[in-house]
Amino acid sequence: MTHYDLLLIGAGHAHLGVLRRWARLERPPGRIALLSAGHEAWYSGMLPGLLAGRYAAADCQIELAPLCRAAKVELIVGQADALSAVQQQMHLADGRGLNADWLSLNVGGQVACPPQTGAGMQVLAVKPFADFLAGWQRWQADPQPVAILGGGAAGVELALALADQVPQLALFCRGPLLSGHAGGLRLRALGHLRRRGVRVREDCPISRIDEDCLISGEAPVWRGQRLLLASGAQAVPWLAQSGLGCDTDGFVRIAATLQSHSHPHIFAVGDCASLPGARKSGVYSVRQAPVLAANLNAALRGLPLRDYRAQRQSLALLATGDGGALLSWRHCSAGGQLFGRWKDYLDRGFIQRHRLSG
Ligand SMILES: Cc1cc2nc3c(=O)[nH]c(=O)nc-3n(C[C@H](O)[C@H](O)[C@H](O)COP(=O)(O)OP(=O)(O)OC[C@H]3O[C@@H](n4cnc5c(N)ncnc54)[C@H](O)[C@@H]3O)c2cc1C
Repeated sequence: MTHYDLLLIGAGHAHLGVLRRWARLERPPGRIALLSAGHEAWYSGMLPGLLAGRYAAADCQIELAPLCRAAKVELIVGQADALSAVQQQMHLADGRGLNADWLSLNVGGQVACPPQTGAGMQVLAVKPFADFLAGWQRWQADPQPVAILGGGAAGVELALALADQVPQLALFCRGPLLSGHAGGLRLRALGHLRRRGVRVREDCPISRIDEDCLISGEAPVWRGQRLLLASGAQAVPWLAQSGLGCDTDGFVRIAATLQSHSHPHIFAVGDCASLPGARKSGVYSVRQAPVLAANLNAALRGLPLRDYRAQRQSLALLATGDGGALLSWRHCSAGGQLFGRWKDYLDRGFIQRHRLSG
């Protein structure tokens, strides 16, 4: 069992921001490591552009080794598969064990899959991105009709990125398309999807997969052999099994200081955490980074912690697959090539900010 003063688990958006700050400003004292499933962090905002052929894979990744070196943090590449909250111990899939005086969780979420019977449907989840991209490359070699599950921003962006690459594309949404965004955004997205030949089924939750058929309630709604999962974040199962206090969906309940309610020596941020007002989106995770960096620093030095306040509104920019983007802010929506160029500028800026050399 290797011991650390602080262990950062998962190279999510907030931990990237923490490392960037520590590379520039003073880092907390002690032995610190980042545990990451891979050598690089993928930036989800650019994934639709990568699929549409607008970016190369290298444009959408942040190499973790230089960032960690710059922040004087050890990089451990491995897959966490169990946590003991009371012992503050992390077990890795390869058998290694790590423990720490302080832990911070930023492991995102996973994609939900309806129950499946038979082997008639190949199912590909959008996360983890590296597995998804490898699977998509195999599918591309032999294009066939595809159904996408998920009527949120990710599902819409993927559908618009992939519409020209498959013979038929259907998008299934549990409720209305893009619920929670400005109403005008839904209408704009529906227009783009219609023009690109995507069949959209709103209010059509998929209850199960039966061989080569998607079933909603008891009715068959789509027949084919390829299903892409892009529905909302689901908690990774080992969080609820760790002894940490979690909400009913298995996400870690945290206080405004970003500490677990039940185990204050464990912080949790981004999609894996549950805090009233904070949505499951990269934007919120990014905004938690400065508070997390300050609070981890304060925790290791025995100083008082600050509160994080979730922003009430967040700007959404959805890539339309043709270089343009749709914008949603409060009750307003807009779209066009100009917003696409703005999104590209913001996304490339995010990557550039984290490309540090140590
Ligand atoms: C196609 C697509 C497009 C999107 N576009 C946007 C967008 O434009 N704007 C936006 O705000 N949101 C967007 N999202 C949502 C966004 O990706 C997530 O909300 C966001 O990534 C969550 O950030 P996070 O910091 O919680 O964790 P993530 O960014 O998901 O990072 C989690 C990290 O933890 C690692 N990890 C997970 N499990 C383990 C483990 N067991 N052991 C070790 N490491 C582990 C992962 O490898 C990953 O590096 C998009 C999502 C998708 C699928």
